[in-house]
Amino acid sequence: MTNRHPVKDNLLAMQAQVDERAQEAGHEVQLVAVGKTKPDEDLLAAYDAGQRDFGENRVQELVYKAERLPRDIRWHMIGHIQTNKIKDFLPYVHLVHGVDRVKVLDVMEREAAKLDRTVDLLLQVHIAAESTKFGFSPEELRDLAQREVWEAYPHLRPVGLMGMATFTDDQKQVRLEFKLLHTLFQEMDNAMHPVATARGAAWRTLSMGMSGDWPVAVQEGSTMVRVGSAIFGARNTPRP
Ligand SMILES: *Cc1c(COP(=O)(O)O)cnc(C)c1O
Repeated sequence: MTNRHPVKDNLLAMQAQVDERAQEAGHEVQLVAVGKTKPDEDLLAAYDAGQRDFGENRVQELVYKAERLPRDIRWHMIGHIQTNKIKDFLPYVHLVHGVDRVKVLDVMEREAAKLDRTVDLLLQVHIAAESTKFGFSPEELRDLAQREVWEAYPHLRPVGLMGMATFTDDQKQVRLEFKLLHTLFQEMDNAMHPVATARGAAWRTLSMGMSGDWPVAVQEGSTMVRVGSAIFGARNTPRP
């Protein structure tokens, strides 16, 4: 039999839990395994367990891993985006989660056009009480929820929203923040679904929930959870 690896067991257990909660919630939920700071070996253990969607928050690390690990992995860029690095990760990325300002859309459109590819993205929304987190405000988001806006971005496909709740033990607050994000997601559906479908995609991805809060996120409508430490163990290097 193949080698046993704790990550493999963790991954299988997490996938089962996510499936169970998704069934309770009555909609599908995709698990993105966040292997940032972890070695190839750990990611391959998850891959062996059937995982294909992986998230990274640093461009250099995403590119480094994407060039060495199996080609059928779908890479998710989940970190804060610096516009001068967009051209580096764009050739490898399946979904860009952290689009948090118009400048990112502008540069991504230009670089996607050069590569002659279409890029799927999520608009990041600032839902947390912490000012250190990034994202569009709900007001800014409403400005983007207009079909005409997207005519300037023919190589981009907006497929949903992403957000991070406040880092707190207060589950009530976390739930309210996820509820807000879900409401915004639904409110934008009218304007955004036609934009997405005209480009062969759909407005259907709500990326919310991490190791500490994903079950609440799924109850509140998340369709994609980004789970790192609960699969790969604690990270010893600090994250920004
Ligand atoms: C690191 C990270 C995660 C995963 O965090 P865990 O708490 O380890 O599950 C999810 N989303 C983003 C944006 C991250 O940077």
